Amino acid sequence: MDSATKGILTGIGDRIRTPCYVYLKAGMQDHVRALADAFGGRFEVSYAAKANPNIEVLRVFCQSGTALDVSSIGEMARGLKAGFKASRISFTGPAKRGFELELSIRARIGEIVCESPEELDEVNSIATDLGVTQPVLLRINPKSVPKQFGLRMSGQPSQFGIDEEQIPELVPQMARWRAVRLCGFHAYSAGNSLSCDAVIENFALLMDLFSRFACDFGIEPNKFVFGSGFGIPYFENDEELNLSTIASAINGTVDRVKAAAKFSGTRFVLEMGRWLVGRDGYMLTSVVHSKHSRGREIRMCDAGFNNHLSAAGMMGTVLRRDWQFWNLSRLDQERNHEYLIVGPLCAPFDILGNNVLLPDTENGHLLAVSTSGAYGLTASPTRFISHPEPREYMITEVDGAIHIEEVTESRLNSMENSVDILRECDRPGEP
Ligand SMILES: *Cc1c(COP(=O)(O)O)cnc(C)c1O
Repeated sequence: MDSATKGILTGIGDRIRTPCYVYLKAGMQDHVRALADAFGGRFEVSYAAKANPNIEVLRVFCQSGTALDVSSIGEMARGLKAGFKASRISFTGPAKRGFELELSIRARIGEIVCESPEELDEVNSIATDLGVTQPVLLRINPKSVPKQFGLRMSGQPSQFGIDEEQIPELVPQMARWRAVRLCGFHAYSAGNSLSCDAVIENFALLMDLFSRFACDFGIEPNKFVFGSGFGIPYFENDEELNLSTIASAINGTVDRVKAAAKFSGTRFVLEMGRWLVGRDGYMLTSVVHSKHSRGREIRMCDAGFNNHLSAAGMMGTVLRRDWQFWNLSRLDQERNHEYLIVGPLCAPFDILGNNVLLPDTENGHLLAVSTSGAYGLTASPTRFISHPEPREYMITEVDGAIHIEEVTESRLNSMENSVDILRECDRPGEP
């Protein structure tokens, strides 16, 4: 934790209630800016809403100029509410339901990223009925993925995207779907990498795939969307990705591709979630009870895996490792006590941290878990054991004063609510 963040988080204890998540607005804005600086404007950035769909978080990215990728009509409704124009939104993900496709097409969504030929067929028939032409991107499921990637989704049978091997047969037939317009390609085949080499290799692989298909089939693409795979440091001794290393390896490739007339109008998009928001959120929990059991010091907190499934190691991790914890009540003291940190759930696997080093930690102390801005609350089973929903706070610093705004959402993902918001945007004929 850097000293600026320590300054902000120390002393907020009496202004928030636990369990909760706090988000640091300036950090998110800095990350968007860092991408623009490193890549010199070669890429647009698209924020993947699933990392953190809080409307105020989406608003920060909207105002920072990113695009938005959603995976449900609920996320799309949130994006619209946060200020995104429908044309700046893309819709990616498996098993999009008919009503979701219809509502998003009516709302004039930018692109639908198709995951199968069947979905293309469905988009075409809905667009035909509505009398519109729907821009689509084909999501490609590549044959190969660099080895060092943590979360892998390609190179094997997958619900994500259309197999690379099927593209040569599919694209020449697309003319028969008259109400869809093929605008380019999308791929997101692996995520959460801290290896520059892997990220660079993956980018080269996707760029080669996209440009080869565009050339082979005479497409002048509007967009190439690269699922970036950028990871963040979750564990002690992890190192941040070095953006300038990545940029110096790939900027030249982008320039070379762009120099070809065919690609002069192509927009290159980096799509990511955790890199933009993961480091800018902390989960805060209070120590409720303490005990000593068979040689271990246990601290029992008001948040468990019901509020933070990822930190408990249950969100797609193979080997459970402790995330980074801080005692906000004693931030500057030496971390010389080892604790088992557990939550309030009647389940033996409700373990937030197994061997956590903290200063002497007592009941009532406030603990913070780092890197909780992405896949935190939104990825957690908050209904388990009927504890209250955690609160959410957005923290901004203006002229040295710290503002804390509660941004907790009570009507989470009600389908009626989403449909209402989409209906407000139902203005066919509007550009
Ligand atoms: C989840 C997802 C992302 C974001 O992944 P991160 O690891 O958070 O960067 C991007 N694109 C698609 C299609 C996704 O499903």
